[in-house]
Amino acid sequence: MKVPIAGGGTATAINFDNAATTPPFHAVMNRIVDFAPWYSSVHRGKGYKSVLSSDLYEKAREMVHEFIGADPSQVVIFTKNTTESANLLAHVLRAIRPEQIILSTEMEHLANDLPWRTGFKTDYVRVDSDGRLSLPNLEAKLRAYQGKVGLVAVSGASNVTGYMNPLSQIARTAHRHGAKIFVDAAQLASHAPIDMKPVNSPDHIDYLAFSAHKMYAPFGIGVLIGPMEDFTQTEPLLAGGGAVGLVSRQFVEWGPPPARHEAGTPNIIGLVALTAAIATLNSSDLRSVHAYENGLIRYAINGMKAIPGLTLYCIPDQEQSEVEDNRVSLISFSLKEVSHGLLAEILSGEAGIAVRNGLFCAHPYVEKLLGLTQQELEYYHAHEDIVVPGLVRISFGLYNTSREVDIFIDLLTRIARNPRRYIEKYTQRCMPG
Ligand code: PMP
Repeated sequence: MKVPIAGGGTATAINFDNAATTPPFHAVMNRIVDFAPWYSSVHRGKGYKSVLSSDLYEKAREMVHEFIGADPSQVVIFTKNTTESANLLAHVLRAIRPEQIILSTEMEHLANDLPWRTGFKTDYVRVDSDGRLSLPNLEAKLRAYQGKVGLVAVSGASNVTGYMNPLSQIARTAHRHGAKIFVDAAQLASHAPIDMKPVNSPDHIDYLAFSAHKMYAPFGIGVLIGPMEDFTQTEPLLAGGGAVGLVSRQFVEWGPPPARHEAGTPNIIGLVALTAAIATLNSSDLRSVHAYENGLIRYAINGMKAIPGLTLYCIPDQEQSEVEDNRVSLISFSLKEVSHGLLAEILSGEAGIAVRNGLFCAHPYVEKLLGLTQQELEYYHAHEDIVVPGLVRISFGLYNTSREVDIFIDLLTRIARNPRRYIEKYTQRCMPG
């Protein structure tokens, strides 16, 4: 795709913002076009179109169940996105085990932090000076709370540093202390295989969530997986049609999960699209996807390390040997003298390179990586007109190439060598009048 660039002309757009959302696969777009004339309301009677849509809807559920290796006792519930999934889980756990402590971590996206702040006592597992989750601290906190932690809520992979957390180890530790584990897999699902494992295995995952729009399907579908039993015990978060058995003026009989937690007309187009995305990811083999994307990351890191004034966050010096297994495909960085927002604008304006900048909806983690003090944060909080420091992030999808990385590194090197030139050009462009 061509996009207009500063000073006239066009450039081929380079999408290095896949951690925010991924473009749909061609197979996904084709499936949507083929299915669009046929879609209908799911589970609404025996009419031909509704039966067809209902059938595809339930097949999607089976496919998702298999994709993440869920146990037969676990149920797949469709939501709008990961954020809604985490909020639904918080709602259910507030109803059935309100006294439990929730142990989240310092590296979470707000979707796996804020839902736990209402109605629970919460605490956060620390990250160490490299930004990695501290497993000794996890163990120490679980021990200190003496069995009162009910849930460890952790991301499968960070949207800030790309670190993949050692889920087996975390699950094993949590279970040993009587806690369950919830994995926010939003950044993991399209980059590496996931296996929730049988529930009798000590390192199984109890609850998991992800979003379709980060795995080459469109917006509007999220997934929450967890024990059927838990979802049977509560009223739904959203009440309405589809969630019930029989209703009269006198009583409401809630239906069984998953329908109980899927009130309203379901997004069948989004789900059919998700099944096409999963089929494509399965045929590409997520192990190969992970290996390919890691190759790109290593290539980009090597190029970026040579750029003057650039700080790479959470990239160790000996990256070559480290990067293989424990990282998804993103890099966060900052450039001396150029603010994160301006740098993102320059990269777009000069070469059509789409990146993300700011705090990435993981404010406490980025604030910690930047070393912002409580006093500084209070100051920014009190002065809304001042730009808060932040980072720039590039994130790759399985279709990105080393040629695109070359274009990016070449431009970033030119900006780093002469930041003033670009700052002037882009701040003048922003001047009113
Ligand atoms: N968790 C992580 C790690 C994410 O990166 C994101 C999206 N940036 C989310 C949760 C939230 O996903 P959604 O906006 O689709 O709910």
